[in-house]
Amino acid sequence: MIAGGAASFYTIPIAAVAYTLPIFVGSMLAIAWVEGAINLLVAILIVSYAITLFRAVLAHAVEFTRRFILQAESENAIRRDVLTSLPNRFSFNERLENALVDAKQFDQHFALLLFDLNNFAEVNDRFGRAMADALLVEVAARLRRSTRESDGIARLEGGEFAIIATRDIRPDQIRSLAKQIIEAMRAPFLIEGREIYCRASIGIALAPTDGLDANQLLRCVDTALHRAKTLGAGSIQFFSPSDDEAAARRHALERDLASALANDQLWLAFQPFLDLGSDRIRGFEALLRWQHPTLGQIPPTEFIPIAEETDLIHSIGHWVVKTACLAAARWPRDLRVSVNLSVVQLRNKALLDGIVVALAEAGLDPRRLEVEITETVLISNFEETISLLQSLISLSVTVALDDFGTGYSSLTYLRKLPLSRLKIDRSFVQDMLTDADCAAIVRSLVELAHELRIEVTAEGVETPEQLDYLRCVRCDEAQGYLIGKPVRISEIPGIAAEPVGQELDT
Ligand code: C2E
Ligand code: CA
Ligand code: CA
Repeated sequence: MIAGGAASFYTIPIAAVAYTLPIFVGSMLAIAWVEGAINLLVAILIVSYAITLFRAVLAHAVEFTRRFILQAESENAIRRDVLTSLPNRFSFNERLENALVDAKQFDQHFALLLFDLNNFAEVNDRFGRAMADALLVEVAARLRRSTRESDGIARLEGGEFAIIATRDIRPDQIRSLAKQIIEAMRAPFLIEGREIYCRASIGIALAPTDGLDANQLLRCVDTALHRAKTLGAGSIQFFSPSDDEAAARRHALERDLASALANDQLWLAFQPFLDLGSDRIRGFEALLRWQHPTLGQIPPTEFIPIAEETDLIHSIGHWVVKTACLAAARWPRDLRVSVNLSVVQLRNKALLDGIVVALAEAGLDPRRLEVEITETVLISNFEETISLLQSLISLSVTVALDDFGTGYSSLTYLRKLPLSRLKIDRSFVQDMLTDADCAAIVRSLVELAHELRIEVTAEGVETPEQLDYLRCVRCDEAQGYLIGKPVRISEIPGIAAEPVGQELDT
């Protein structure tokens, strides 16, 4: 009975003891009073009882430990990022709150760094989820190696990581920590036999200087990161109070851009291309303008990135193509019209149909439409971009490579892409008369492009001397303030049907 009771109640040790204790006491009394062989039997029973009880307690202890470990593991799991094994956002929030408490109570300063892989979405798109995940694991490992033991790293989402630094937090020390991290990401990542280059930026906020509240500090570091990203890969930016104004302006622009199209605030300026052989205007580039009701003229370099991030670029971009085609269809001779297409637009499957519809509605000969793309488009999505460009070419639309020389200029593109035109970036044109290297680059680019049967347009021509040099090196076309600034089409008399040689001297 003792053994049976102990076995049945082993999961509840107290019940087992309560059940077996009276029998145990009774047995002890029996052993004491009764003499003879019965004692041996009872003794065996008692030993069995002790063993069963011991087993029961042991089983319970094992179960208890197992549950304890499980609980600890699940608590750990909700604080860890499965992929990188780094602390996750939940854990980061706790750490940030703790750091803020220490900052308030013990006046302990700390720095918050926000690290972002600018091209993570592109890597995901181009190489797929598995490779993007493998990349993140490697990034996390490099982050660990490039930071100090005391720096709390966490993965927040996508390619975004945060670091809470509580030691050596003078701005120069934090800057060198950030530089170390950026440096660690510079070498290509070797994932599944492919080399992937990552571009990272870091935003930094300091507590208590920038805030003593988690939300405020996060807003500051986010704003700093945003500025770092706009400055390009490898940038490190500390939050500055003027960022707040910039962020407020950005929010206002983001909000208002959504209705800008419907409210007729967008318009196209047209800037002429001059043919250097015939001295005649060959066509115009359509450049987007936004007349904001209270903030005035907003430069496209400011609002186009916003349009891209909010996906408004698709509707705006379609409007640009449509309006440019309609305008060109009314021009007196077969002048070309160029429109700019950004990376985000080229990723959109509806782009091609949009262009076909715009051409048809305007009744414009597709040969008169040119699209301008930049090299960044090719970096992120080479195969897809090529196939989209091929479709455009099959419609007879031509393609120009814009800002050539500023990005990751690779001569491979020139050979692989179905390009009609190369636009040499303004920075080369501006320096070519004072810098022999720039002059050599312009000269050789023209030669090389001609070998590949690609025409060349020089951008940003501002002086007659620059124009003369371009003629000398047999550049095909020039564009710039000297020839004409971007203006409303209505401001261009007769749309430059006449030779413009004389106008150039004025
Ligand atoms: P971009 O395509 O390189 O356009 C040339 C920019 O250089 C224009 O600035 C133009 O006004 C300016 N520019 C032209 N000639 C000269 C010159 O002689 N000297 C100087 N200093 N500047 C000159 P804008 O209009 O501010 O446009 C800036 C950028 O915004 C464009 O660069 C283009 O990348 C983008 N953009 C403009 N319109 C559109 C659009 O409709 N769609 C897209 N996706 N991007 C656009
Ligand atoms: Ca352009
Ligand atoms: Ca350009």
